[in-house]
Amino acid sequence: MDCIFCKIANGEIPSKKVYEDSFILAFHDINPEAKVHVLVIPKEHIHSCDFVNKSNSFNVSYIFEKIPEIARLAGITNGYRVITNCGEDACQSVKHLHFHILGGEKLPEQIK
Ligand code: 5GP
Ligand code: ZN
Repeated sequence: MDCIFCKIANGEIPSKKVYEDSFILAFHDINPEAKVHVLVIPKEHIHSCDFVNKSNSFNVSYIFEKIPEIARLAGITNGYRVITNCGEDACQSVKHLHFHILGGEKLPEQIK
């Protein structure tokens, strides 16, 4: 499959890794929108939030279990924001479910 995040997950495309285990990978965003900007992905290809179902939803709960540790590993100490963009109007550019962790500085109240 021609999916850039699948290629990052299997090591075909290099990334600056923050955390990895057999289910998920966390790496620094190539174009950071905050002082710390990490992406967390399931290794399994899931297109977006719209494609989360009973058989793959453990990936999402597992990612949220791990987010505090990933934020800590990335050097975040004073709070963070978690965002996922789903579909056209949200400007999802990579069609592989991912969660942005933004922090390392005071964030604006809203990111639109
Ligand atoms: P989206 O707009 O789909 O929610 O977010 C996709 C994110 O992936 C963007 O913030 C973009 O900078 C990041 N991104 C796209 N291609 C790559 C890549 O090859 N490596 C890394 N580390 N990040 C990428
Ligand atoms: Zn993928």
